[in-house]
Amino acid sequence: MALVAHCILNQNAKVAGLARFPAAVPGVAALLERYRFGLVQMPCPEMETAGLRRWWQVSDQYRCAGFRRSYDRLADLLLDSVEDYLSHGFTVVLVGIDGSPSCGVDITDRDAKGIWLGCPSLDLVGMPILGSGWAE
Ligand code: SF4
Repeated sequence: MALVAHCILNQNAKVAGLARFPAAVPGVAALLERYRFGLVQMPCPEMETAGLRRWWQVSDQYRCAGFRRSYDRLADLLLDSVEDYLSHGFTVVLVGIDGSPSCGVDITDRDAKGIWLGCPSLDLVGMPILGSGWAE
């Protein structure tokens, strides 16, 4: 079975303006099905904790007690069934989103310099609207 990041199957959960497709990411479900993986759509942790009107953040901003509690709760719900599948001999794979601060597998967005605070000063296409700068 494949644990699939929520937005691969539902792009509507992305931060407003960042969806690349109007529905699911084309071809992913068909590819997994071809290799006989059942799909489990994981909850979108950012949507669950911050809703659709969140802005794009880095993992540092989610490293606080409240987000951690929420993410732990979501992970616990999945872990029960993952353990059950594994104990019955299933292969479990994870299909995440590299670059996402929440669903990255090998890469997560970080703020090594500690100065990224989110984008209240940017409009949806990334143009500064208050004239303040931001870090990469
Ligand atoms: S948190 Fe994960 S599921 Fe939600 S939009 Fe970001 S990458 Fe997709």
